[in-house]
Amino acid sequence: MGWVAAHRQTANVSHVSEDPRYIALRGSSLSEAAAIASELALPLEVAGQLLGVLNIEHNVPDAFNAEDVQVLEALADQVAVAIQNAANYQAEQARRQITERLYTVGMALSRTLDLKKILDLILAGLVDIVPYDRGSVMLEYGNQVVVVAEKGFPPGTQPLDVRVHIKEDDVFQELRRTQRPLLIPDVQQRADWHYVKNLSPARSWLGVPLVYQENVIGMLSLTREHPNPYTEDEKALAVTFASQAAMAVQNALLYENLATVNRELEKTVQQLSERTRDLQAAYQQLERLDRTKSGFINVASHELRTPLTVISGYNQMLLDDPQVKKNDTYFQIVAGIQSGIARMEVIVGSILDMAKIDSRVLQLHPEPLILSMLIQSVRASLVDVCVQRHLTLVLQGLEDLPVIEADTEAMRKAIYHLLVNALKYTPDGGSITVSGHALPPDGDEFPEGGVEIIVSDTGIGIDPSMRELIFTKFYQTGEVLIHSSGTTTFKGGGPGLGLAITRGIVEAHGGKIWAESPGHDEQACPGSHFHIVLPRVSRMLQHSAMSGFGASADA
Ligand code: ADP
Repeated sequence: MGWVAAHRQTANVSHVSEDPRYIALRGSSLSEAAAIASELALPLEVAGQLLGVLNIEHNVPDAFNAEDVQVLEALADQVAVAIQNAANYQAEQARRQITERLYTVGMALSRTLDLKKILDLILAGLVDIVPYDRGSVMLEYGNQVVVVAEKGFPPGTQPLDVRVHIKEDDVFQELRRTQRPLLIPDVQQRADWHYVKNLSPARSWLGVPLVYQENVIGMLSLTREHPNPYTEDEKALAVTFASQAAMAVQNALLYENLATVNRELEKTVQQLSERTRDLQAAYQQLERLDRTKSGFINVASHELRTPLTVISGYNQMLLDDPQVKKNDTYFQIVAGIQSGIARMEVIVGSILDMAKIDSRVLQLHPEPLILSMLIQSVRASLVDVCVQRHLTLVLQGLEDLPVIEADTEAMRKAIYHLLVNALKYTPDGGSITVSGHALPPDGDEFPEGGVEIIVSDTGIGIDPSMRELIFTKFYQTGEVLIHSSGTTTFKGGGPGLGLAITRGIVEAHGGKIWAESPGHDEQACPGSHFHIVLPRVSRMLQHSAMSGFGASADA
């Protein structure tokens, strides 16, 4: 038969005992049962490819004649074709199976993030295509590889608990180094093989690295308990399945990262909402306190005004008394008391104004107002101070301003506070300019036009960080050192209400106020500019008594 396969020719041996090519199967039951006398062997070939040999034996010598040979040669050809067809069919079946398995795993990969489930599927799919006795997927954790999925391990062995310490030059190190599959035809040849207790010893082994972002993160381990080395085809198939396993691990890791980020995010959101709740509670508490304080201030200032009026009345009587008038010392004392009372009246008046603005009960009486006249009259009341402190107070371009509708007394207060501030925060010898211009009608803000008034000074200026804060009540930048000094002396004292009241009044008219200044510098004196814009006709005025203006948080 060997000769037939080598020569691809038919051999018709009439007396096998005389043919030197014949090897008797001594000791086999076959040769004992019937002594072979003649033999006919024919090559099985398809398209020039040898598939095997068809062998027929007889216990009679010279059993096959030429006709037999012809018939059997025809039969051998048919057998060869049948074998070839069967092999093709089998190969096709195997290919189909591989495609199906890959498809199933692919689908699972896109459907589920359950790593264990996918790895189990991969191991189950692989066993039909690359038969193995025990298969596992192991992932690297620290200096160990841990079994995360398995198939074929006998019951009771609990392979999922198995952790193998990575050692210098063991198979995992080798896979990690080469990043290629490792095929060991017979593990008994390897002295360093790690046998697991309670498991029948491995014989042939195939390990495929799981590569994620160019790093080996684990391996697919396939063990056969008998020496039946894996073929190159099987190796290639195992690599394909291993790459799917790596992908599943990658997805699971990404998902785990995402889940961790989500958990962190949820925690942060929760902390944030807790903090918001705390802040809200604190804010409500502050609002309550502010209301209480406003109420107290309101009552206190009302209570103060009554005795103040009485004192002022009696003091006026003293001033008018001829005896006092005659005595210069007495007169100076009583006049001093009178100026102190006047100052207190102004402060109590400001506190009352603020209380009204805070509680939204400021009554405004709109009437046509010529701003230039109003500003001139305020200026007139400050002329003495200007002379005393060598300050110039100039009015510019106010005559051309249109008449607006506003509450004259409220506006007087607003302008007064701005001018007094300009005097207060400008050193002696400086200048204050009040200018203004008309604002054209504009669709949104001032449909009927308006005016802008700017109070500029050559004073100490305002730090940019304070530009908003100065409009809150009781706010004073820096320390007011000389509270007892006059309201119009340089950096003289005040209750810190002027700008809050001014803003309250301006906003109640539907206008806006803001400050501009290059910065605060008491040496260089960069100056400040306070801008007020007011609508020509304020719609808000009609509802002003109840409208929500005010410099403080709307309580
Ligand atoms: P007060 O003048 O009583 O302190 P205001 O409400 O009128 O209160 O002003 C608040 C703060 O704004 C002042 O303490 C001052 O620091 C600052 N400020 C106001 N006007 C000016 C100005 N023209 N130049 C510089 N700083 C000013």
